[in-house]
Amino acid sequence: MANTPKPLIAGNWKMNGLTKPATREVKALMRHLTGRQQPSCDVLICPPATLLAPLRALVKGSRILLGGQDCHKGESGAHTGDISAPMLSDAGCRYVILGHSERRADHAESSQLVAAKVQAAHAAGLIAIVCVGETARERKAGKALDIVGDQLRRSLPKGCTAADTVIAYEPVWAIGTGLTPTTRDVAEVHAYIRNRMKRRFSTEGTAMRILYGGSVKPGNAAELLAIDHVNGALVGGASLTAKDFWGIIRTQA
Ligand code: PEP
Repeated sequence: MANTPKPLIAGNWKMNGLTKPATREVKALMRHLTGRQQPSCDVLICPPATLLAPLRALVKGSRILLGGQDCHKGESGAHTGDISAPMLSDAGCRYVILGHSERRADHAESSQLVAAKVQAAHAAGLIAIVCVGETARERKAGKALDIVGDQLRRSLPKGCTAADTVIAYEPVWAIGTGLTPTTRDVAEVHAYIRNRMKRRFSTEGTAMRILYGGSVKPGNAAELLAIDHVNGALVGGASLTAKDFWGIIRTQA
């Protein structure tokens, strides 16, 4: 396909990772990423905030980029336990994941709040990875496209570009379950997202990366990543070990 966006393979570590084992895994990944056969994708790790400083020092000069897993909509202030977009940027992040279904569920985050966070991320120079996806019940009811469409409409502020925004389609029922949609279902949703992005952001929407997320593993990555309008993956469990994460990344070589 002409002008296909450069794929992004992003690891979402969630609330996992202590300094010693994380350092070991990232060092192993860096060794893979200096080998002879190099993948032509961007590689991103989104660790817990506690690991940003040690990993920043470790990955300096390598291909590995760092991202946050969430940010507050404000720049600073009385928000105990929160982290702002300028803080993530200051800590060496290039990306931030926003609107992950676990945040929407655990912290009752609305799409309106996600849109405010996306604006905050952009203002701080971060690339926002905006997650959308239907639950099992919504898919069974034939509402997957409506849900995804509604989340996209409300979670994306005006003026998003291919340089500052990435969409991640993550069916909630596929996250951490070992289940994945059929290639036909993934193709349908990704084509739908592409059309919506084109309609809303014109050429920027054509070039915007759309990731698939939900039980991506070394064994299914090649098939999922070969689907039209799948421009990379957002990976949870399989991003925690260098072996599995590399097994996914190397499909892009
Ligand atoms: C995720 O949480 O973003 C995710 C895709 O998780 P997993 O790969 O473990 O399904």
